[in-house]
Amino acid sequence: MVARLEIPVLIVGAGPVGLALAVDLGWRGVSCCVVEETDGVIDHPRATAINARTMEFCRRWEVASAVKKAGTPPDFPHTVLFLTRLDGFEIARIERPGHGGGDATPTSPERPQRCNQLWLDPILRDRAAGFASVTLAYRSRFESLIQHEDRVEATILDLASGERRIVSAQYLVDCSGSHSPIRHAFGIAMNGTPGIDYNVSIFVRAPEMWRHHDKGKAALIHFITGAGPRRSLVLLDGRELWRFGVTGKEFYDDPDGVDCARLFDEIGGAAIPRQFLSVRRWSARDVVADRYRVGRVFLAGDAAHINHPDGGFGLNTGMGDAVDLGWKLEAALARWGGASLLDSYETERRPIGMRNVRQAAENLQIKKAREPEPGIAEASEAGAAARRRLGDRIRRDSLRNYVTDGTALGYGYDPSPICWPDGTPAPPDTITQYVPTTRPGSRAPHAWLGEGRSTLDLFGKGFALLGFGDLPPETATLAAAFAHRGVPMRVVPVADPVIASLYERRFVLVRPDGHVAWRGDALPDDPIALVDRVRGAA
Ligand SMILES: Cc1cc2nc3c(=O)[nH]c(=O)nc-3n(C[C@H](O)[C@H](O)[C@H](O)COP(=O)(O)OP(=O)(O)OC[C@H]3O[C@@H](n4cnc5c(N)ncnc54)[C@H](O)[C@@H]3O)c2cc1C
Repeated sequence: MVARLEIPVLIVGAGPVGLALAVDLGWRGVSCCVVEETDGVIDHPRATAINARTMEFCRRWEVASAVKKAGTPPDFPHTVLFLTRLDGFEIARIERPGHGGGDATPTSPERPQRCNQLWLDPILRDRAAGFASVTLAYRSRFESLIQHEDRVEATILDLASGERRIVSAQYLVDCSGSHSPIRHAFGIAMNGTPGIDYNVSIFVRAPEMWRHHDKGKAALIHFITGAGPRRSLVLLDGRELWRFGVTGKEFYDDPDGVDCARLFDEIGGAAIPRQFLSVRRWSARDVVADRYRVGRVFLAGDAAHINHPDGGFGLNTGMGDAVDLGWKLEAALARWGGASLLDSYETERRPIGMRNVRQAAENLQIKKAREPEPGIAEASEAGAAARRRLGDRIRRDSLRNYVTDGTALGYGYDPSPICWPDGTPAPPDTITQYVPTTRPGSRAPHAWLGEGRSTLDLFGKGFALLGFGDLPPETATLAAAFAHRGVPMRVVPVADPVIASLYERRFVLVRPDGHVAWRGDALPDDPIALVDRVRGAA
C-alpha cells in the first residue's frame, strides 16, 4: 500500500525560496512539508548579493545576525572594480558605503549583505527545521500531481528507499527552480528573452588574493580586455573563496573541458596560489511565467521568473514571493482570508517579477552596449585615454547594477485587489533610489521606535493599525470590525512626530507582509468594507 501524508502546505524544492517560505510558514505556526530531491548540500556558489529587503525578512525570522556573520567580514569593502587584468590597469571603481557591516541606513534597519547561498541556504534550512510545524524531506522527488477541488495529491519518490508516497495538501507551492516540472506539467509558458548568454562558474580557492595584486580588496571585479569572453571574480567569504565567471558558449557546451588554469592566468592570476574546486554551467534568461497560480498550486522563485544575475535580483525577488504568499496561505487555512486573497498573489507578485526581470535585462543591455575600444589594455597614451573614456561611462551608467535600494525597497502593489487605493501618484520607480512612502501597496517605511527597534518590527503577525496622535473612539470600532471577521489586528499608537510625518497620514493600516493596505486622516465610515477588502473578501 502506498503511504499517505496529509499536510496543509506542500512546498516542492528546498532552494532559498522554498526554505524561506517554510521559515515564514513555520514562524506563523502553519504546518508544511518541503520535499527536495537533493541531499541539500550546497557545493557550488550561486547568489551572493542579498538586498536590504531580504535582510529585513531575515530580521523578522531572527536570522539576520547569522547571515551577517556568515557572509563577508563586516569591514570588507563592497567595492566593485573594472580592470584590464589583476596585474593590469584599473578602469573604474565603484564604492558602496551603504553595503555590508551592521549599521542601519536611514531607509532600512538592515543593509544589503554579501552572503552566498553556500551559507544562506543552510541558515534558512536550520531555521525552518527549528519549527515543530515544518517537515523537511530531503532526497524526496516530486513526480506528479492531481488537483481536486479541495486538495492537491502529489506523488513523491523517496530516493533512499525507492518507495513512493502520496502527499495530500490543501495547497502546493512550486519552488523547484527554473526547470520546474510543475510549470511544464501545467503548460505554463515563460515569456521574455531566453538564451541571453551562456556561462560557466568556476569555484576557486585563492587565499587573500588581494595580497598578490595591487588593486586592493574588492567584492566584485570585472575584467575588460577588448575582444573575448566576459570574465568576473565574485568574492564569497572575504578570505579565500571566489566565483570566477566566464561567458562563452564554447565553455558552456563543454564545462568538463574548461581549462580553468589558463582562463585564470589570462586575468592576471598566474602568480596567485589557487585551487579550482568545481565548474558548473548556466545560461541566462529574462523570462516570467504567464501564470503564478493554477487552482491550489502556486509558482514562486525561479519557477516563476528568471533573470540575468546582473543586479542580483533573482533570489531576492523570490524572497518577496515567499513573504507575500506566507500570510495569505495562513489566512486561507485559518479561514479569515476571503475567496480572492490567494488570487491577489499573482496580481501582486507577477508585475514585480516582470519589473525586476526588465530591470535586470536593462542592466545587461547597458553593460553590453559598452564596447571597449581595442587599445583599452595598452600601456600607451591612447590606451590611457580609452580607459578614461570607458571609466567615465561605467561610473555614469553602472551604479544601477550595484546599488539597488529602489528595486529592493521601492516596489508596490498597484493595482492590488486587497489594498485600498487613495488616488495619490506613485513615487518614481528607480533601481538605485528608494523614496519612502505609505501610499497603499508600498512597503511601510522604516523608522526607529527606540533603541534597536524599527517600525518594521511591528509587522508580521496580523495587521497593524498605526495611529498618530490621540486615537478617536472609531479606532475601537475598526478593531471590532476586524475581530468580527476573525482577522488578527492590533492598534499601535505612535507618539513620535518624526514618524508621524514619515507616515504621511494619521492612520496607516499595514498588512502582515509589511505593505500598506490603507491609509487616511480619518477612519472609514464603513469599517467592515475595509476589513473585507484587505482580507480579500470584497
Ligand atoms: C551565477 C549566478 C549568480 C547569481 N547571483 C544572484 C545574486 O547575487 N542575487 C540574487 O538575488 N540572485 C542571484 N542568482 C539567482 C539565484 O541563484 C536564484 O534566483 C535562486 O537560487 C532561486 O531560488 P529558488 O529557490 O527559486 O530555486 P533553486 O535555487 O533553483 O532551488 C530549486 C530547488 O528545487 C529542487 N527541485 C527541483 N525539482 C525537484 C523535484 N522534482 N522534486 C524535489 N525537488 C526538486 C532543486 O533540487 C533545488 O534545490 C544567481 C544565479 C546564478 C546562476
